[in-house]
Amino acid sequence: MKTVKAELIKETVKKMCIEANCNLPEDIYRCIRHGLSIEESSEGKKILSDLIENANYAKEQNMPICQDTGMAVFFVSVGQEVYIDGNLTEAINGGVRDGYEEGYLRKSVVIDPLRRVNTKDNTPAVIHYDIVPGDKIEITFAPKGFGSENMGGLKMLKPSDGEKGVMDFVVKTVEEAGPNPCPPIVVGVGIGGTMEKAALLAKKALTREADSKSEDEYYAAMEEELLHRINSLGIGPQGLGGRVTALGVNIETFPSHIAGLAVCVNIGCHVTRHLTKTL
Ligand code: SF4
Repeated sequence: MKTVKAELIKETVKKMCIEANCNLPEDIYRCIRHGLSIEESSEGKKILSDLIENANYAKEQNMPICQDTGMAVFFVSVGQEVYIDGNLTEAINGGVRDGYEEGYLRKSVVIDPLRRVNTKDNTPAVIHYDIVPGDKIEITFAPKGFGSENMGGLKMLKPSDGEKGVMDFVVKTVEEAGPNPCPPIVVGVGIGGTMEKAALLAKKALTREADSKSEDEYYAAMEEELLHRINSLGIGPQGLGGRVTALGVNIETFPSHIAGLAVCVNIGCHVTRHLTKTL
């Protein structure tokens, strides 16, 4: 049994909050640079260059890439052979509290969805736990701005709607989102499972590199086809027209029920942040 102190988790999370908010992930950089090479609209090219310049500046100055430093979302895989000395959830929330304070990151969380009083420390975090074999803890942090979060969608399709029904729903969701999720976007798609499982898969899909492909060739082909259809919509960078509406489409799936076909779309913006550390 390996022991990991809660204090170490808190310190790690604190640093991750600052690092993820100030450093654009390498995959998003790569995709924006690639977008610049294929964008036809001059306005679109200018915006993509500005996004790179903005990300470079944020990195140099250790400042947030965007003013919306998001709700703190975590995927935490805990090895069965790890003993945590302390309270894990409190450690993660403590790290968020300290990281958002020390990093001068905007606190965007309200204590109640309707009464809307700011908690002033960006807690509580949204934490998804997974118990896995081994003696490690893997923490993925993916702060989520709500310009893009608000534009996602979920639909319980009929099994007979099939591949076409899923693809049409994804494209329609992106089309209706238009400029609101700050394109170029990353499109996370969850297919299968139950209603809540599809939503979780769609969010998790955004933590995969934006230019990665599904390991399943069938879904890799769907990702490519969806990217082509989305980039033919003409929304373009920041919604001002152009070819590069999406940087990537990531699909994650789970077995389903004979009577159902859940599909969820979670849209990530041009600062789709994700950072993983292993303890
Ligand atoms: S959607 Fe993304 S880029 Fe737009 S304001 Fe929110 S965090 Fe910033």
